[in-house]
Amino acid sequence: MVYQHTFLDGSPCSLPVGKVVCVGRNYAAHARELGNAVPETPILFLKPSTALVPLSPSFSVPQGRGECHHETEITVLIGKTLTNAGEAECRAAIVGVTLGLDLTLRDVQSVLKKNGHPWEVAKAFDGAAPLAPFMAPQAFGDLAGQHFSLTVNGEVRQQGNTADMITPVLALLQYISTIFTLQPGDVVMTGTPEGVAALHSGDVLELELGELRAVTTVG
Ligand code: ZN
Repeated sequence: MVYQHTFLDGSPCSLPVGKVVCVGRNYAAHARELGNAVPETPILFLKPSTALVPLSPSFSVPQGRGECHHETEITVLIGKTLTNAGEAECRAAIVGVTLGLDLTLRDVQSVLKKNGHPWEVAKAFDGAAPLAPFMAPQAFGDLAGQHFSLTVNGEVRQQGNTADMITPVLALLQYISTIFTLQPGDVVMTGTPEGVAALHSGDVLELELGELRAVTTVG
């Protein structure tokens, strides 16, 4: 299925599907659980548009390549071009907010990290970024103090709050825009809190943020 950005309220989205900019280790407790140092500047990486797929009703994880972990992340949809942008410009450019999964082949990534190689094979494969439908950003203010969670098979696996981000969303967009121009239709995944773990076929996931309650199955 070809991915298109969608809105939870069913309103149309005419934006193209662009790149995915991700940030690593934006929550100190998650950096610690993987034995990583807490970075002084955001660690950025990209996924291509071909990584985007709808989160629901189901999504797939690669088989035979070791553990594939869920990383539950607040994800924003960009509606305006941002280059070296200021905070107000970044705030005005957010046209949607949702949750997404930064799927990560953890065993593959561990080998890549050990060898000092790029992470794309572990994080940028087809279907590596399942996204729920976007909500209008007005309900989220400046995205400070937003609670979100992931439940797997009825058990809470990840709980996060944007208040715990090392680099908050607007500062993150400002920083990203000094490196990569953000274009309409791009999305930014803002990092995962602790609790990442392997997914298995048949797992039932429930992701919650604001009025979003997305239920999906690992196919
Ligand atoms: Zn992530």
